[in-house]
Order: sequence, then C-alpha cells, then structure tokens
Amino acid sequence: MDFHQPVLLTEVAEIMNLARDRGCYCDCTAGGGGHLERFLQMTRRAQFIGIDWDPEAIDFVRERLLGYGQRIMLFHDNYLHLDLILDRLGIREINGVFFDFGVSGHQLASDDRGFSFDRDCPLTMNMSPDNRSLSECLAQADKNEIMRVLKDYGDVRNYRRVGSMIFEQRKKLRTTAELRDLVVRNTPKPYQIKNLRRVFQALRIWVNRELDNIESGLPLAFARLAPGGRQCVIAYHSGEDRLVKKQFNQWHQEGVGRKLNKKVLRPSVSEIEYNPRSRSARLRAIEKCA
Ligand code: SAH
Repeated sequence: MDFHQPVLLTEVAEIMNLARDRGCYCDCTAGGGGHLERFLQMTRRAQFIGIDWDPEAIDFVRERLLGYGQRIMLFHDNYLHLDLILDRLGIREINGVFFDFGVSGHQLASDDRGFSFDRDCPLTMNMSPDNRSLSECLAQADKNEIMRVLKDYGDVRNYRRVGSMIFEQRKKLRTTAELRDLVVRNTPKPYQIKNLRRVFQALRIWVNRELDNIESGLPLAFARLAPGGRQCVIAYHSGEDRLVKKQFNQWHQEGVGRKLNKKVLRPSVSEIEYNPRSRSARLRAIEKCA
C-alpha cells in the first residue's frame, strides 16, 4: 500500500499532452509533487508552475524537484491567486493546467494535522495556515450547519444524529480520537469505518471551503489557457465532481471547450488496491478551442 502514489498518473500524464515539450504548464495542487515529477521526467524543455497553499507541501516538493532547476517554479499560495502568480512571472497563457483535489498522502500521514481518524491529534484540519481550524469552525457553527456539512459534503447516513452530537459536544471536543469515538458511538457497527471516513472528509471540505475554491478556480485557470491547452481535473467526492462536470458541460455547449472523455475516468481495481486514496477518484479533461 502506498498513500503517496500519485493518482491516475499514467492517464493524467497522457491527457496533459506534454509531447510537444514546449510552453508552460501549471499544477495548481502540487501536494507531494508526484504528478509534477512525472511531467518533468517526460519533458526536457517545458516549464512548470506548482502551487500549494500548504507550506509543508511546498517545502517537500522544493526539495524533491531540486534537480530540475529553473524548469520548475513553486508558489506557496491559494490557486485562486493564479492570475497574480502568472502576471508576476510575465506569463500570459499557459499550455495546460492540472488540479488534483482532496488530501495529499503527506497530509493524511501527518501526526498533527488532524486529517486522519486513526491518529490522535488536535482538531486542526486546515490545509493552509490562512484557513480556520476545525475547532474554530465548530465553535462558531450552529447545529443545522454542521448537519448540512455532514450531509452535503460527506453523504453521511445518520447526519442528523452525528451532527447534533457534534454540536452538543463541540465545546468539549478536543482531539480527533474524541471525534472518532463520538462517530463510532453513534453509528451502527457495519457502517462505522465508512462513516468515519465520510465525517472526516465532510469536515475537511467545510474547513477549507474546498467547493467554493473549486467553483472559482476552474474558470480562473481556463481563462489563462492557450487555445489547444488542456485542463485536467481529479475529483474525489460527488460534490466536487458535480462542479467539474457542470462547468465542463457548459464550456462544451458554448463551444469554447471540447471535452476529452465522454465518461469520467476511474482508477483500475489494481490501482485502488495499491493506493486506497485513489478509491473514489474521477478524472475529467477538457481542451480549450482555438
Ligand atoms: N497531485 C499531488 C497530490 C495533490 S493532493 C501529488 O502528486 O502528490 C492536493 C493538494 O492540493 C494538497 O496538498 C492541498 O494542500 C492542495 N490544495 C487544495 N486546495 C488548494 C487551494 N485552494 N490552493 C492551493 N493548494 C490547494
């Protein structure tokens, strides 16, 4: 098992269409730099921009990709600031852009970030230091909001029960282990693991305003694509994928983009076995029309 393995790597590398080996491409969610490293290996001249709002991710990728010199430029920032980054570099158009949403292997494996339910740490869960922590979000939320988060961002079955328990306990809850116990106590045995995964995912999406970022980030990046450039996106949750699908359909219908896969691409059984993080991945891609 390898949580750090880049998801759908072969498929993404092919769809990004790097064969011409020129121009500039952007990975808006650099994470552990796995996809970026493959892009760099496949090319000799193309340039790459990597963005991540998690400073630990950028530090790691900087070290990992040191050998590629000037071909890779890394930015610790929200991808919503892509325009600023490109303007500062004097780059008008990029030839491809990639988004890989969700949580990175490093974030999941971290002992103090709060993303994983099998580690005991404070209720942080913010990917960027600019985002509020889970404890701060809970302190200000009302019961309905917590229930809505569990339902909409996690498809949590018993979202009413778990949501109201979290609400009642919100001032006392301190650690991920306490949150895990609360979910387990309020969920029938067969669904416990599934529900734990879903509750943690829902809270993470909420804390980091992930859907808002996706909704604004996709058109931002598309606007900076050169004609013929491609946008390639991996989503891990139905709410994320719905936004991608809707946006791509709209561009396709307006004639500004051409969808590259009619049906969403999913990882193979063997990839899922090897890398459980890929379990729910869905890949879509679109090419900007000339
Ligand atoms: N493709 C990567 C894994 C990406 S995991 C690899 O091969 O390793 C997703 C990453 O996106 C995380 O590191 C997370 O911090 C980052 N991220 C999520 N939303 C972001 C945003 N709005 N701006 C910048 N980075 C973001």
